[in-house]
This record gives sequence, C-alpha cells and structure tokens, in this order.
Amino acid sequence: MRWGLIGASTIAEEHMIGALRAAGQEIAAVQSGSADRARDYASKHGIPLAQSDLQALLAEPGITAVYISSTNEKHHAQALAAIRAGKHVLCEKPLAMTVAEAADMVRAAEEAGLVFATNHHLRCSGSHRAVRDLIASGRIGRVLSLRLFHAVHLPPHLQGWRIDNPDAGGGVIPDITVHDADVARFLLGEDPVTVVAQMSASGMGQGVEDSAMSVWTMPSGAMVLSHESFTHPFAGSGLEVHGTEGSIFATGVMTQRPAGEIALVTAQGREAVPYSPHNLYEQAVQDFVAAVEGRGRPAATGEDGVASLAVALAVREAARSGLRQTVNYGGAA
Ligand code: NDP
Repeated sequence: MRWGLIGASTIAEEHMIGALRAAGQEIAAVQSGSADRARDYASKHGIPLAQSDLQALLAEPGITAVYISSTNEKHHAQALAAIRAGKHVLCEKPLAMTVAEAADMVRAAEEAGLVFATNHHLRCSGSHRAVRDLIASGRIGRVLSLRLFHAVHLPPHLQGWRIDNPDAGGGVIPDITVHDADVARFLLGEDPVTVVAQMSASGMGQGVEDSAMSVWTMPSGAMVLSHESFTHPFAGSGLEVHGTEGSIFATGVMTQRPAGEIALVTAQGREAVPYSPHNLYEQAVQDFVAAVEGRGRPAATGEDGVASLAVALAVREAARSGLRQTVNYGGAA
C-alpha cells in the first residue's frame, strides 16, 4: 500500500517509518503544519512528497492509508478528513481529547467501510502476547490482580507539549495511562468498570500531571493497580499478574522494543517464559495491512482506542475530583 504520514513526528521518525518500510509499505507523502518542516522531514527520510496542506496530501493519487501521529488534539479532525477522502487510518493514541470525539472517528470509518486502528504497540509485543496466552490457557488459575509499573523518565526530546500543554493533550495520563488501560484490557479480556486515582506534578509537569497512580475494578472481580510517571529515571517497568494457581512476573516489558524477561511461578516452581522478539511496530503494521486485505483485524481496533481513552479520562477525573469514577465508554465497550 501507499501511505501518507499526517504529522512530522518523532514516533514516525524513530519507529513507524522503519516499521512501515520493513513491512513492505511505501511512504508516498508527509504532511506537517509547517511547509519547511514537511520539506526537511521528507528529505531526511527519503519521502517523495512534502505537504503543508492536509487536503493536498489526501488528494494525492494512490494513497490508500494514512498514519496519524500529530499532537493529540489534531487527531479527530485529521482522521475525519482522511476518512472522508476514503483512506484507511492507523491513528496514534490517545485517539482524541474526548471519548465522544474518538467514538465519532471510529463510527465514521465503519460507515465508510474503512479500516481504523489504534497504534497501541504494547499488545503487539511478543512478551505481552505470551503473558496473555498464559492467562488464557489457565496456567495461573483465576486472575486476582494485575499490577502495571510504567513510571519512566521522559527524555528531553520528548518533553515539549507532553509536559506543559494540556490543549495538545499533554500529561502522563493521556500519554501513558492510556497504554496501560489497553494492556489491562488486552491481558485480561475485560474492561475496567470503576477507578480511583491520585495524580501529581512531581517535577516535570507544568499545568499537567506527570505522575499518576490508580486502582481499577474489573467485572470478574480482579483488581488492577496502575502507576505511570515521566519523572522516574531508575524505576524500570513491568507488570505482574497474580492468580489462584500462579503468578507471572514480566520485568522491563513496558517498552517500545522487544525487551524484558517473563517468569511464571506456580507450585511446581519458577520457569522462564520464552517469547517472540519481533519488532512491535512492524507487527502493528502487518496486522493493519492484513485487516485492509480482509485477512483479519488490526492489533488494536478503533474500539480499543475508544476504550483505552475512556479509562484514562476516568482516571484523570477520579484524581481531579477525589471521587471513584465509573468508566464512561460512550457505548463502545
Ligand atoms: P512530536 O512532538 O515529535 O510530534 C507531534 C507534532 O509536533 C508533529 O506532528 C509536528 O507537527 C510537531 N513537531 C514535532 N517536532 C517539532 C519541532 N521540532 N518543531 C515544531 N513542531 C514540531 O510527538 P511524538 O512523536 O512524540 O507523538 C506524536 C503522537 O504519537 C502523539 O499522539 C503521541 O501520543 C503518539 N505516540 C505514540 C507512541 C506509541 O508507541 N504508540 C509513542 C510516542 C508517541 P507538524 O506535523 O504540524 O509539523
């Protein structure tokens, strides 16, 4: 397929351009709000066409799909424009600023018969898929709890709007809690019902939170503990799933690369769990292309993106209000 990039972004530069090409995809054009930036970015990455006008990119012949990785407040309007132009859409998380906007995007794609996916990379990793398979096969019995450790140190080149611009979707909750919501839904196969939370600005955030801790209840009765931060240089990441017959310890797995170790602990002892070390973003592209070709579903659908945003926004509202929130999926989950 021929792709248009909407947003001359870091994530496209560091991961998605390579992933698209590795999956045999052609990147035909890039659009940026700034003509200079579009030109520089296109030249640096060997992209034939640079555009500052979104409609011009969408009018380019032969482009069948777009990858949207602009700042969060732009996703909604850009996705709707792409869908109106008949393009399949792979959109970055969070899908939008509100659940209603996100649901709007998904509905528009569905009505147009187009594939719409959310770029939740973690569920594409071999490690997360191995943990999900262990749970689904009953190796740890009934799941009692899931702990998600996702407190990192945001590198300087990513700080920008994430730490000081709420209007662009800044803050650790739309940035990382939204991923953790997707991880919990993916691993446990159910959707959080209520959340309680606290958040703080612990050194990086200016006008937005840079740290959050929350507890979610699941329909099965399992509890989820989730910790995200931009300010933790040495914390490491990971997740633990505890069940009646065993526990899974996955350390270093909340990453963009195939890294980390998984151990399964049961009455029989402790065993290392192997997993596929494939590239997470290439997997996302492969699953998306398969969906466009009618051979399956995207790794994370539009509905998954609506649901993860709903959980993240409930966490923020719970932290803001100090009150337990029922997650409002807007009819999507
Ligand atoms: P960037 O800040 O790198 O890019 C976002 C937008 O900011 C670009 O589209 C560009 O706008 C503008 N911009 C970028 N760099 C500059 C610059 N030097 N000068 C002026 N403007 C600039 O964001 P990220 O790549 O970190 O994130 C983009 C999206 O991807 C977000 O929605 C984020 O949540 C998501 N993301 C997802 C990840 C994942 O693993 N799924 C990981 C990281 C981010 P324009 O295009 O108009 O030039």
